[in-house]
Amino acid sequence: MTNPQDAGLGVTLGTLGNSKDTTKKKSVLGNSATDPNKILPITYKWARNYYKQGVANNWTPEEVPMASDVELWKSKDGLSEDERRMVLWNLGFFSTAESLTANNIVLTIYKHVTNPECRQYLLRQAFEEAIHTDTFIYCCDSLSLDPDEIYNMYLTIPSIEDKDQFVVDITKSLLDPNFQIRNTKDMQQFVFDLVGFYVIMEGIFFYAGFAMMLSMLRNHKMIGVGEQFQYILRDESIHLAFGVDLINTIKEENPEIWTDEFKQSLIDAIKKSVDLEQKYAVDSLPRGILGLRADVVNEYVAHIADRRLESIGLPVQYNAKNPFPWMSEVIDLAKEKNFFESRVTEYQQGGSLGW
Ligand code: FE
Ligand code: MN
Repeated sequence: MTNPQDAGLGVTLGTLGNSKDTTKKKSVLGNSATDPNKILPITYKWARNYYKQGVANNWTPEEVPMASDVELWKSKDGLSEDERRMVLWNLGFFSTAESLTANNIVLTIYKHVTNPECRQYLLRQAFEEAIHTDTFIYCCDSLSLDPDEIYNMYLTIPSIEDKDQFVVDITKSLLDPNFQIRNTKDMQQFVFDLVGFYVIMEGIFFYAGFAMMLSMLRNHKMIGVGEQFQYILRDESIHLAFGVDLINTIKEENPEIWTDEFKQSLIDAIKKSVDLEQKYAVDSLPRGILGLRADVVNEYVAHIADRRLESIGLPVQYNAKNPFPWMSEVIDLAKEKNFFESRVTEYQQGGSLGW
């Protein structure tokens, strides 16, 4: 019998002619009935739907005009020192975080998730991460930022370094080339790492930055960069939704992994990530700017963390209110098919609409 892990790693053609396992029910992980080259018939319609949504949301950073951002950025007193700091901190975090995410998907998640419709979505997600990486190249170029400053902030700014290091640390075992999913413990390790990638990195560590940059946009400042963050948020909310469905499907198919001890380890990791995200918000916004203070961003981070916990069936930890109800309006747009059309009415106050 073909090892399901091997089936994803080059011996796939050999399994194409082997129909012995086709009556066996498919599962996302650890199933020799899953041939990574046979996408039909589809078992996980959610994965296919996220793929379609991703394609419908296609965009590129060059579609967003940057002229007014350049003017504002270069003017002597268009932005306060604290506003500049906040923009730089977020460009610094996202510029390398997008590549970290792309590498995680391609080098580790893709290797172990052999189900073909999930893999189709992972390829789409990887492409979107390339678009996001491109966005920060475009921002650096347009604003004539020093790439050595921006792309080294993950080393020079402790609160950014701590977030990146945390993600690298909690996903260490997956980076081990010999890691395989053979038993319950391995499966737990894999799910723990998926929570690290999707729930923590994409679901918590991006959200203080989203709230800060979209708050600037609401104040008609750096509207090009702000619009790009809107598009990224729309993409990321689908990445997160896919990750949550993937995690919940693995849970349903392997209920033995969901022990009290395992649940507690996930809660602990999520709580630690909230601490790091809140530290990052205070560091980015030490004195607060118009309409935005770090303690309010931190309440939002706690609110978001509760939603993430609930989404994977864990108890809420903060009971924090949502101080930015307008953020959910932006996220809900992700569910609408024609974002561009709805955006004209919803975001007219947000600034220039170039089309
Ligand atoms: Fe991204
Ligand atoms: Mn992403």
